[in-house]
Amino acid sequence: MSDAALFVFVFGGLFVLRGIAATVVFLWILPDGIRCPQCDAETAAMQPSLALRYLRSFRSSWCMICGWHGVHRVTKPTPIRRRSNATRGANASSAPTPPPASPPAERR
Ligand SMILES: [Zn+2]
Repeated sequence: MSDAALFVFVFGGLFVLRGIAATVVFLWILPDGIRCPQCDAETAAMQPSLALRYLRSFRSSWCMICGWHGVHRVTKPTPIRRRSNATRGANASSAPTPPPASPPAERR
């Protein structure tokens, strides 16, 4: 392999890797969820652009309150955690819970 071909291969590869790394970092710093990053209102989903049609984990959003528009990372909603049996057993051995408050007595 000639020196010129080796030079083009190495620096061309570095050029491509730089573009890939910049894209990954840009997508990584996008806000996640559906909340507006400026006013914390819920945003509306918009028609995705051509590139976002293939990136299924990103969503084009628009805030109807402040007018912000941009891209969000789609995150799965966090599941509601249920207390496990081990946790219940640990609570049973601790101090008993007070009885529920009784309704106030009727006034006469
Ligand atoms: Zn907003």
